[in-house]
Amino acid sequence: MDYFRLRGVGVSPGIAIGEVFLTERVIFTSRKEEILPLQVKAELERLKDAIGKTEKQLTHIKEQIKEKIGEDHSFIFEAHLLILKDKSLFSDLVRIIKKEKSRAEWALSRVHEKYKTLFESISDEYFRQRKSDIEDVLTKIYRNLKPPESKRGDDDKEKILVAHDLLPSEAALRLSKGNVLAVALDMGGQTSHTAILARSLDIPAVVGLHNVTGRVRKGDFVIVDGTDGEVIVNPPLAIRKEFLSKKEKYDDYRKELKKTAKLSATTLDEVRFFPMANIELPEEVNLARSLGAEGIGLFRSEFIYLQSTTLPTEEDHYSIYSRLAKEAYPSPVYIRTVDIGGEKSLPQLKIEKEPNPALGLRAIRFSLRDRDIFKIQLRAILRASVEKNVRILIPMITEIEEIEEVKRLFWEIKEELRERRVKFDMNIPLGIMIEVPAAAAITDLLIREVDYISIGTNDLIQYYLAVDRSNEFVSYLYKPLHPSILRLIRFIIETAHREKKEVTVCGEMAADPLSAIVLLGFGLKKFSMNPIFIPRVKKALRSVEYKAVRKMVQKAMTLKTAQEVEEHIIENILVKHPNTFLMGHIT
Ligand code: PEP
Ligand code: MG
Repeated sequence: MDYFRLRGVGVSPGIAIGEVFLTERVIFTSRKEEILPLQVKAELERLKDAIGKTEKQLTHIKEQIKEKIGEDHSFIFEAHLLILKDKSLFSDLVRIIKKEKSRAEWALSRVHEKYKTLFESISDEYFRQRKSDIEDVLTKIYRNLKPPESKRGDDDKEKILVAHDLLPSEAALRLSKGNVLAVALDMGGQTSHTAILARSLDIPAVVGLHNVTGRVRKGDFVIVDGTDGEVIVNPPLAIRKEFLSKKEKYDDYRKELKKTAKLSATTLDEVRFFPMANIELPEEVNLARSLGAEGIGLFRSEFIYLQSTTLPTEEDHYSIYSRLAKEAYPSPVYIRTVDIGGEKSLPQLKIEKEPNPALGLRAIRFSLRDRDIFKIQLRAILRASVEKNVRILIPMITEIEEIEEVKRLFWEIKEELRERRVKFDMNIPLGIMIEVPAAAAITDLLIREVDYISIGTNDLIQYYLAVDRSNEFVSYLYKPLHPSILRLIRFIIETAHREKKEVTVCGEMAADPLSAIVLLGFGLKKFSMNPIFIPRVKKALRSVEYKAVRKMVQKAMTLKTAQEVEEHIIENILVKHPNTFLMGHIT
C-alpha cells in the first residue's frame, strides 16, 4: 500500500484516522437516446413519475433529518422541494424531450449542463457553490428514472468518507448517521453545505483535493487533518504516532474552547465584550450559539437568492427571517440587505457584466436601482421584526443621499404595513455598513442618520489599501494592521462612541485574536465573525486587561509598519499572558 499525502482546503478542523469508504459518483448520461414521436407522451409520464417519487423522498428525508438532527438541517430539503417544483426547470425538461425527441435522462443532462455553465461563470465562490443544490435535485430525479438499484449494504462501521462531491442532501443524511469520522472530497469550498454541516457536527473535513477519489481505494488507511487541509494515505507508523498525538492535543484544545463558550465574555478587569456570529444559512444559528455567539451580528441574505432559480418571493424572505429571529431570540439578529451585483451576480437578476465589478453596481447601489426587489426584502424584514430582536444593516453605503433614500423607502413600507394592520416593530433599528473609505471619512455625518454602524473590514481594507486580496501578485500588501487602517478604524470607533452610537466590526479582522485585541484597545466591544473563530477570540480577549490593552495600543499607534505593530502587541501580551494566542492560533 503506497504512502502519499494530498493537500486540499481544511474546512472543518480536527483530525481523524481510519479506513476509507468511497461513495459512488453520479455521472449524467452523455449519450442521447432518441425516441419516436409517439413515445414522447410516455416519456413525459416517466419524467413526471420520477419527479413525484423524488418529491416523496425529499419530504421523507426532510422529516427524518428534522427528527434526527433538528429542524435547522432539514431546511435544505425545503429548498430542494422548491427547486423540484420550479416551473422553469420543469418546462425546460419538457421542452427538450418534446423538441429533441429524447429520453428524460438526456433532458436532465442538458439542463444539468446549462446550470453548471451558468453557475461556473459566477466568480463569487459562495454563489458558485449553490449549483450543487440544483445538481442534487437533478440527480435524484435521474436516479428515480432508473430501475431501482439493489440496495448496497451500508457499513455501519466508523469510516472516513471519500467522495467526488457530496450533494447537500447526501451530506446531511450520511453525516448525521454518526459513523463518519471525517470527510475528504475532490470538490468543494469553504461555503459549501458539506463544509457548513461538517463544522456544525464537528466532523473534520478537507475539500478541494481534486482527485482523492482516483488516488485512494476502499479499505485504504488514511489520516484527515481538517485543520491543516491535508489527507495522508497509508502513513507509516511514525507518521501515525505523530498524528495521534496531534489529535490528542487538538481534542483537548477543542474541549477547552467549548468550555470557553460558556464562560463570561469579559476581560480580566471585568470589561464586557460581545462576540457575535456572521452567518449565511439559518441552519448555523445553533452552532453559533454553542460556540459562544451572543447574537447574529451579520446575516448575509444573499443565500436566499440561491434557493430557487427564480427570484425569491416576500414569503421566501419572510419565512427565513422570522425563523432566524425566533431561533436567535432574545439575542439580536442583524439582517444585511442583499449584497449582490457586480461579481456576486446571479442569473435570475440579469445584471449586466461590468468591467470593474468591485467598484460597480453592487449592494445598496443595486437595491436602489431595482427597488421592487429591495422593497420585497424590506417588507419581509419588517414583518419578521415582531419579536423586536431584528435589526437592519445596509451594505456599501457611500454617501448621505443613499441613507436618505433608504429611510424614505423604509418609511413608505412601514406606512403601508400599518394601513394593512400588519404587525411589526415600529422602532426597528436601522444601521449601515462602513466599508467604503468615503463613508469611513464621513462617519460623523453618516452616524447621525442611523442607529448604529458595522465596520466591514474585508471590503474597507481592500478599498483603502487599493489591494485586491484574492490577487496573488498584490495580496502581500493586504495588511489589517497597516498604520493607515488602524488610524481609520480608530477614527470610526471613536466617532461612534462620541455620538453615543453602537459600533461593531464584522469583517475577518474581528476573527483574528491579535487584531481583535487591537480593536479592543480602540474601545470596541462588539465583534462579529465566522462562528468557528469565536472561541479563540473570546479566549484571547478574556486573557487581557482592558486598561493595559488601551495603553499598549496607544503606543502601537506611534509605530511605522504593520510588522512593528504586530511585534509590539505580541511581545507585550505574551510577557503577561503567555497563553493568549498560543492555543488560539491553532484553530
Ligand atoms: C466586509 O466587507 O467586511 C463584510 C463583512 O462583508 P462581506 O465580507 O460580505 O463583503
Ligand atoms: Mg463587504
